[in-house]
Amino acid sequence: MTFKFYLFDLDGTLLNLGNIRAYADQIFTKTLTILKAPNIPNREEKLKFWLAGKDYIKVLNKWGISKPQYFWNVYDKVDFEHRKVLINQKKIGLFNDVKDILKKIFEISNKLAIVTNTAGYVVEYILKKFNISKCFHEIFSMGPGIDEKFAKPSPSGIFSILRKFNYDQKYHKALMIGDSIVDIIAAKKANITACLITRDKKRYPEDYEDWLYSPDFIIESLDELIRLNS
Ligand SMILES: [Mg+2]
Repeated sequence: MTFKFYLFDLDGTLLNLGNIRAYADQIFTKTLTILKAPNIPNREEKLKFWLAGKDYIKVLNKWGISKPQYFWNVYDKVDFEHRKVLINQKKIGLFNDVKDILKKIFEISNKLAIVTNTAGYVVEYILKKFNISKCFHEIFSMGPGIDEKFAKPSPSGIFSILRKFNYDQKYHKALMIGDSIVDIIAAKKANITACLITRDKKRYPEDYEDWLYSPDFIIESLDELIRLNS
């Protein structure tokens, strides 16, 4: 059985932000500075934050941030302003293989969705800017009014999309494609197939074969999706 539902992460999977860690780090540091963090945490501490899921407030409290509940609102705003500038400078864009593959998957009557931890208004801006809004039947994004506990690695976003698609695991196969460990954890917790897109393997200094949840497929470019069967 081939896949019927294709769920894509956005950043680093469809959208090329260059060095995504450096990008996120820059936004993160600026956000902490605005929130008057006493110190900028080291890499290990930051990783704890990214994997904390719904416990992120505890991590921020530990770092001495007085209003941790504003963290994501500030982060999203900083991110949005930064992206708009970089998109206009053509430093951020879709990966070259994106438009073709979305068209191919769409044409053979599969359903496509985005499951992202990025704020909805940022996602909307990007999809419009690059003219790919129509490729997606559903979008699950974060942002104002959406509880952070639903962000990946939680499988909530995937479950929400699958419900909308009337997914029935007896008859359907769904694939989550993403570039990071949170995509793989979310997919495996949702009990669907997980595909890691590495693009540049140098990005994964920690060995992804040792992740607690392993991807079912590892691809280097989206073109390979056409050949994947469940
Ligand atoms: Mg990503």
